[in-house]
Amino acid sequence: MENIQAFKALISQPKKVVIVTHFKPDADALGSSLGLSGYLKKKGHQVQVITPSDYPDFLAWMPDNKSVHAVTKTSEASLVTATDYINKAEVIFCLDFSSLSRINDLAEPVRNATAIKVMIDHHLEPEKFAQYEHWNVLSASTTGLIYELIDQLGDSSLIDADIASCLYAGLMTDTGGFRHNNTRHQEFMIASELVAMGANPHKVAMQVYDANSLERLRLIGYVLSEKLKVLPEYHTAYMTLTADELKKYGAQTGDTEGLVNYGLSVKGVKLAVLMYDRKEEIKLSFRSLGEFSANEMARMHFDGGGHRNASGGTSKTSLEETLKKFLSILPEFKEKLDKA
Ligand code: 5GP
Ligand code: MN
Repeated sequence: MENIQAFKALISQPKKVVIVTHFKPDADALGSSLGLSGYLKKKGHQVQVITPSDYPDFLAWMPDNKSVHAVTKTSEASLVTATDYINKAEVIFCLDFSSLSRINDLAEPVRNATAIKVMIDHHLEPEKFAQYEHWNVLSASTTGLIYELIDQLGDSSLIDADIASCLYAGLMTDTGGFRHNNTRHQEFMIASELVAMGANPHKVAMQVYDANSLERLRLIGYVLSEKLKVLPEYHTAYMTLTADELKKYGAQTGDTEGLVNYGLSVKGVKLAVLMYDRKEEIKLSFRSLGEFSANEMARMHFDGGGHRNASGGTSKTSLEETLKKFLSILPEFKEKLDKA
C-alpha cells in the first residue's frame, strides 16, 4: 500500500468497519474477510463482514463465520440490513474483487457510501473507487495481501491460529494447492509463516477439499462421463449443466467449484470452460494454460474477467444460446490457442 502511514493513522482509532467480499465467496474471499476481521477486532474496531450471497458449506468451519451477514435471495430484509451497516460504516474494506459489479446488489450502496473505502485485491484491471488500495496482480491470493498488510503495519504478532487458518485457506485454494503458475516463492514464505502461527495445513485441506457430499461426487461422475466435450482442433474442453441437471444431483452452492479444472487436466487441452444455469443467469468459468488469456475471452464476450489463466463471466441468454456463442467465437481465438 502506497500511503501506508495515512492508512495506519486511519485505523489507529476504533472505527465502525464493514468488510465486503464478492458474490458467491470462495475460500480466498471469505478467508481474507474473516482473517482481516479477526485482526481488526483485536485492534478494537467494531467489524461486520457482509457477503452479497450465501457461501459453500465447506467454508463453514472458518472461525467466526457465524457472524457474517449474508444477503440472500430469499430474504429482502437481508439487503436492507446490509445497506444499513454500509451506510453507518466509517471504513469499508472491499476484498478479493476490484470491480463493483462483483458485489451485485451491494454495488450501489457501497458506491454511494460516505465511508472511506479500502480495496485489497489481486484481479486484473481494477475499477477506481477506493481511497486506499493494496492491489497486486502477482499475488496469488488476497489472503496473502492481508498477511502482508498486517505485517507492514507491524502487527504480525496479532495473527493467531484462527486468523492464520483463514488466511492459509485462501492461499491454498487460489494456488490450487500450490500448483498453479501464480505460486511464487512469496506464497511459500507466507504459508510457512502462517503455519508457524498455528494454521494446520492438513486440517485446512481436509475441511476444504474432503468435505464432499455423496451427491456432489455423483454430479462430478456424471459430468465426467456424460458432459465433458473436447474439441482437439481448438485445444478446448467444455462442459454444460442445465438447471434440471443441477437439481437432479441436489447441487448446493460450491458444488460446481473445481469442476472446470478436470477439463484442463485433459492432455493437450489449453482452454477449459464450464457453463451452468444458475437460474438468475448463466455462469461461466474459464481456465487456461500459459499465454492464452482466459481473462480476455471472459471480458470481451461474457461480461467478466479475473486472472489471465482463471476467469469467470456471465450470460443473460439461455444455456443453449450461451454455448452457441462460445462455439462461434472459438475460431477467432484459434491462432492464439494453437500458439499457447
Ligand atoms: P471462478 O471460475 O472460480 O468462479 O472464478 C475464476 C476467477 O475469475 C476468480 O478470480 C473470480 O474472482 C473471477 N470471476 C469469476 N466470475 C467473474 C465475473 O463474473 N466477473 C469478473 N470480473 N470476474 C469473475
Ligand atoms: Mn482470490
